[in-house]
Amino acid sequence: MADPSQRPPPHPETRAITGGREDQQGALAPLLWSSTTFETETAADAARLAQSVDPDRFYSRHGNPGVRAFEQAVADLEGAEAARAYASGMGAVTGVILGICSAGDHIVAQHQLYSQTTSVLLGICPRFGIDVTLVDGTEPGAFAAAVRPGKTTLVFAETPANPRLDLVDLDEIGAIKGPVTCVDSTFATPLGQQPLAHGADLVLHSATKGIAGHNDASLGIVCGSQELIDWLWGFAILQGANPSPFDAMNGVRGLRTLGVRLRRQSETAQALSEALEASAHVEDVRYPGLESHPQRDLAKRQLALNGAIVTFDVAGGRAAGQAFVDALELARMATSLGGPETIVCHPASTTHQSLLADELEAMGIGPGTIRMSVGLEHVDDLADDLAQALEAAARTTS
Ligand SMILES: *Cc1c(COP(=O)(O)O)cnc(C)c1O
Repeated sequence: MADPSQRPPPHPETRAITGGREDQQGALAPLLWSSTTFETETAADAARLAQSVDPDRFYSRHGNPGVRAFEQAVADLEGAEAARAYASGMGAVTGVILGICSAGDHIVAQHQLYSQTTSVLLGICPRFGIDVTLVDGTEPGAFAAAVRPGKTTLVFAETPANPRLDLVDLDEIGAIKGPVTCVDSTFATPLGQQPLAHGADLVLHSATKGIAGHNDASLGIVCGSQELIDWLWGFAILQGANPSPFDAMNGVRGLRTLGVRLRRQSETAQALSEALEASAHVEDVRYPGLESHPQRDLAKRQLALNGAIVTFDVAGGRAAGQAFVDALELARMATSLGGPETIVCHPASTTHQSLLADELEAMGIGPGTIRMSVGLEHVDDLADDLAQALEAAARTTS
């Protein structure tokens, strides 16, 4: 037999299957550890557990074996020493920001962010005396230029970013020394890109999305060095945004199929974005796999797969956007992303309808903007559905 040390390391798709199995007790499927508490034999054991960082059998807010399996599986894929799971992506976002920053500290982040991350940075951080600078994440050198030595404790990037799939150069984030650097990599998933390999300190996911992947688990996760994750743990147990063991179990189950799901979604999203770009009823299509993406070269450098999300503008403004989503038969209208069902949202007529046109524009949302999360349906059925809905939208507005 060949020397095992000479064999190449397993591919990420394989590690998505093999990871997080340390405590399986012979079971192949992930275990549900519903117990919130674990008994000890002696008072000395109890005292040791109460004082230890990240015990997995003490009290479930501190740690839980099923949650641990999920953490280990994602950490393994991200090439991280450790991970901490949260009850949601926002639990992870607030856990990082408030776990790291204190009054008087400064954060550099970007304009292009998940809107509720922006709300934490601009709405919550000032209440705690934390200063925030937002830069254009697509502008070369913008993050580094905004860092205030000695003051900036956190650099927070999101790539590919909401809502228009703007990219941040991961090498630039990784090169920033001093502050903790954190990348929200939700759109890419651990199989799409590897922020830690580019030098970032932390990578964060809303695992509610592609990782769990079936719209049945609310989860967040942060991966990094053991030292940083232990530090975040100290805040996390007080924050109390620990995940449900049931959701963590579904997180592992979802991760097992992420390889095939993300590959299929990326292929379908590529084909649909090309078809949309060729349509006379569509004004602007953004997908990292399109040659027209303004950062196409960067996409090729740092994305192994371009992901499930396509953003485009239906010609004809708000009325056309609304007519388009109303006419869709296969794609469903819902929020979230990364699941098996293709879903669309039209922010101008739903989540963002109270905003003025210039406010929408500042967020990268036009009156006809549609964000689509491509699911696992057959590409031809989706292409037909988009085409008939675009025709319907064009009829309404002509
Ligand atoms: C959804 C999302 C979040 C928040 O995650 P929840 O699980 O909904 O709390 C954060 N960042 C990005 C990029 C997201 O898409």
